[in-house]
Formats: sequence, structure tokens, C-alpha cells
Amino acid sequence: MHYISTRGGMAPQRFSDILLGGLAPDGGLAIAESYPRLDLAELQALSQLDYRDLAFAIIGRFVDDIPAADLKALIDRTYTADVYRHGRDPARADQITPVVKLEDGLYIEELSNGPTLAFKDMAMQLLGNLFEYVLAQRGEAINIVGATSGDTGSAAEYAMRGKHGVNVFMLSPHGKMSPFQRAQMFSLQDANIHNIAVTGFFDACQDMVKAVNNDAAFKARYKVGAVNSINWGRVVAQVVYYFKGYFAVAKTVGEPVDFCVPSGNFGNVCAGHIARQMGLPIRRLIVATNENDVLDEFFKTGGYFPRGLERTYETSSPSMDITKASNLERFVFDLIGRDGAKLAALWREVDAGRGFKLSDADFARMHDEYGFRSEKSSHADRIASIREVKARYGVEIDPHTADGYLAAKAHRESGVTMVILETALPAKFEATMQEALGSPPQRPHDLAGLEDLPQRFDVLEADAEALKRYVAGYLDR
Ligand SMILES: *Cc1c(COP(=O)(O)O)cnc(C)c1O
Repeated sequence: MHYISTRGGMAPQRFSDILLGGLAPDGGLAIAESYPRLDLAELQALSQLDYRDLAFAIIGRFVDDIPAADLKALIDRTYTADVYRHGRDPARADQITPVVKLEDGLYIEELSNGPTLAFKDMAMQLLGNLFEYVLAQRGEAINIVGATSGDTGSAAEYAMRGKHGVNVFMLSPHGKMSPFQRAQMFSLQDANIHNIAVTGFFDACQDMVKAVNNDAAFKARYKVGAVNSINWGRVVAQVVYYFKGYFAVAKTVGEPVDFCVPSGNFGNVCAGHIARQMGLPIRRLIVATNENDVLDEFFKTGGYFPRGLERTYETSSPSMDITKASNLERFVFDLIGRDGAKLAALWREVDAGRGFKLSDADFARMHDEYGFRSEKSSHADRIASIREVKARYGVEIDPHTADGYLAAKAHRESGVTMVILETALPAKFEATMQEALGSPPQRPHDLAGLEDLPQRFDVLEADAEALKRYVAGYLDR
């Protein structure tokens, strides 16, 4: 299995080569040169496997430069009942992504039972183990410099804590995260995790990270890397739970099932698209957005017009507050027949701030051949959905999953099972849950008192040079 760039300008690479990198040298995203295709008999065999064996069977198709026994050991260490123990029913933790039935034909797949209570742990925990392994093989190190307003940063820190060869320098806006999110990150005492609270907004944090990455000499000298949502290893790890969810709800392997996916950077649902291309009988992929509806607009009109920061809203499903959907490039590459030159031309328009509109033929194929649909929600919708799911089914869902519930309702068809992916647990979003239900959400018992633990962080002014001095100061010691 080799990897190419969506923009056509990268010599084929192996998995380990692209694992640690960010953008391809031509500015595109790494993607498998083709997707492995599974027939019905193979699917039937996979349906019998537990999560670890299934993950090995799927991920193994994309990775042929790590010895199978090593890859298996890394996967077995990642997907354990102890790591994914925060679900509704502790007795089912070993299923890793258990499904909850709301009613006949309507299910929630729990993806948020890992250490930071959000679906990013599904991929990031594996990435931590893969990074450590590949770095050790090569005798290399990496220093991850990132910015977060919540979920991504904490998932990265919990995945990389204590890993050899990895340091994490994570910037966050000082005083802007929820007390829970802050405590989750700042209570980590591992020497390789560095929390940096920046006196400014999230944009300022992002600008500082960008400035560090634009300083090629600094970047090379201090081996600066990233673990953002375009990382191919993350996308591949996420393919697995579409298979797991499908097998959990399908009465017979082969029947069509719809998936509904709360979306931001399009990483999660991109994995669903890949599972579908591999032959998993997914009928529709429903993309759910909040008020930041650039993706809803794309799937309804064929126009992709990323927003400026002035048109990006702070919402009560904050992990979906995006201006552009980075991973969309991978899907559009497939949609337009994997033509790198054509894709590069479209993304020149995106990068210039103009965007593009699909041809009528591509727009039709996106719906008919690739099965995409979309819907968007408002704050009032989220509150109503959280209340409805609690009243009707006795199940508490978080605001992001609530965006998914509304989209699933809008696109449900009788006779076709629908699976809503749960991307976070309610415990992370106390204020919105309180507003919806009049009481605070339940919290996994071993996270009680999290806010009382000692916190470890440094405060920096919003200045890229200050960040460079901080990173260099630590690494040069
Ligand atoms: C990151 C995140 C999303 C969006 O996922 P993408 O892969 O960026 O589309 C949705 N919900 C939650 C809770 C998240 O943390």
C-alpha cells in the first residue's frame, strides 16, 4: 500500500513516512493510492471479530511497513476496556464502541468512552502508540506544537503522555476553556506534556503555531510536528468503528445502514466514506453541522465557500465551530475521479478565499453514488433534541450528538437502520446540559473532583517569539 497526494505532486510513500508528516510537499493531503475492497464473504468473516481483531484486519490493509505482529501488539494495547471505560454500561466496555438502541432502527454508537470523553480518543490513542513505535525504530524524536480550544488538545495530550521521543507543547486561550476542559489538560503531570495558556483568544494561539511552522530553520532544528485532523493515521483508525457499528446493528451482513455524523473538519465522516468505498454496505452518510454550516451548504448546493473568522460563530457544540473543513479535500479528490491537477485547481480557489462550485454531474454523483446528505442545527434545536432524547428514550446525549440526532431524524427512512455517532459525552458540556435538562450531567465516577487536582501550566503572552523561546528553552536544557 502506497500513499499519494490529493494534488498529484508527491512520489508514492509508505505508511510510516506519512504518519509523522503534516501536509504533503505539494500542499495536498496524503491518501491511499486505492482502497482495499472487501466482498460479502470477507465482511461476514469480519463481523465475527472483536474490536481489536477487527481493527487489525482493517488497519492492517493500510499498513504494510510495520511487521504484522508489532502492529497487532500496538492495536491490542490501544483498544482495551480499561482505556475506553467511561461508557453508559461499564459491563460493555470491552466492546470499545458499544451501541445503544433508542428504538427499532435507530441507534447511537458510543465513540466517546476514552480518557477525554470525546471521539478523538478513538484515533489519537492509537496514534500515540504508533508514534512512539515508529520514532523508536528510526531513532528520532518529535515535538508537537499545537493550539486547542478544547477537545483536540486534550485528546493529543492523553495519547502522548509519557511516550518516549515525544513532547507536546499545547497552546490554549488563557481563561477561555471550561473548568472541566482546563482541569483535564492542566492536571496532567507528565514531564513531556507542556500546557501553555496564552493571554489572548484561540486565533492568537493558532497564529503562534503557524508562525513557528513558517520558520523552517526553527522547525527543522527542533523537529516540530503536529497531530491535527488531516493526519492519515487518524482517518484510518476511524474507519474501524464504522465496521463495528454496522455489524452491531445489521440483522444480516449486506443490508444497507445509514450513518449520521456530527461534523467539523470532516475527518470522522471521511472515514465513513472510506469504509463505504471498501465495500461496507453503508447507504447514506449524513453530515450534521451546527450554525457553522459550510458543509451543509456544500452538500445542499455543491458550493464550497469556507468562511472568514468574522463569519465563524461560537456555538454550544464548540468542537464543530470551523471555518473550513480540511479533510473535505480527500472526499472531493475521490468524487472528481482522483484527478490531482483538477483538485489542485479547485483548492487554489479555496486557498485564495474564493471557493468553488461542483459541476452538476459531480453534484448529482455526490448524492446518488456516494450517498451524502446533510442537515444543520441551531442552539434551540440542540436544547430541544437533548430534551426529546431524554424524555423519549431516557438517554442523555451531548450537544454535538444532539446535532446528529436532528439530522438523523430529518433523513430517516422506514426500513433502513440509522446509526448516530456519539462524538462526546454530556459530562464535558455542563452548562448546556444544565440549560436543557435542569440538572448537571452525570460524570464518570473516576473523574469526580477533577477540578480539585493540582494544575500545571505556564502563561505566555500572544507572541510567536515568546513561544519559540519557550520551546527552545526546554529542549536545549
Ligand atoms: C472534533 C469533534 C467533532 C468534529 O469531528 P471532525 O472529524 O472534525 O468532523 C464533532 N464532535 C466532537 C465532540 C468533536 O470533538
